[in-house]
Amino acid sequence: MKVGIMGGTFDPIHTGHLVTAEAVRDALDLDEVLFIPSARPPHKHRRDITSPEHRLAMTVLATCFNPKFRVSSIEIIRTGPSYAVDTIDALKREYEVGTEFYFILGADAALELATWHNAHQLIEKCHFIAATREGTDIDIEAVETQFGDIGRGRLQRVETPKIEISSTDIRDKLRRGRSIRYLVPDTVEAYIRKEQLYYDD
Ligand code: ATP
Ligand code: MG
Repeated sequence: MKVGIMGGTFDPIHTGHLVTAEAVRDALDLDEVLFIPSARPPHKHRRDITSPEHRLAMTVLATCFNPKFRVSSIEIIRTGPSYAVDTIDALKREYEVGTEFYFILGADAALELATWHNAHQLIEKCHFIAATREGTDIDIEAVETQFGDIGRGRLQRVETPKIEISSTDIRDKLRRGRSIRYLVPDTVEAYIRKEQLYYDD
């Protein structure tokens, strides 16, 4: 079994996340991709991150039509800071022995990998996939080198369509009364409007 992991704040989840996850799933023939909304992420400094319950609901609404996408509330339920290394350990206990995990990262996140909590332990426990557009200048080897010998071959690059959408941009558009249609799935837009999220950030 090969399982992709797409972690994120998903505040809100958008088409960039979905296209990236599906492109990696297809390229690596993953059996499923698990979307894991984070609790309060240690590296995010926004004062008000939308409640985990709303972010989880939007993640479910965004992924429910893809039979190979699943959502896990593991980081939201766990108390204390959410570190990827703890998540992987918990998933390894949950899935059958021999399951391979592929942690999917956008290029920005891949470049920061070495700064993650217990990064050296983490890179021994799962594969990392840097989702990048062909010809982008992310230097996989430079990231791997930061890990010395254990890093070799653990970070793989998969070419994915470049989609210039960020959650920050979507929140900004909502504040300014601009359209977010097709930047997020219709289900997510309907939920945002029903719950009146992001209007007064
Ligand atoms: P924010 O603007 O609030 O930082 P974001 O759009 O970057 O939000 P995150 O939840 O921070 O979304 O990202 C989760 C993961 O998805 C990260 O690995 C990030 O690199 C990746 N990602 C985010 N947006 C895209 C995109 N448009 N294309 C590919 N990967 C993306
Ligand atoms: Mg981000």
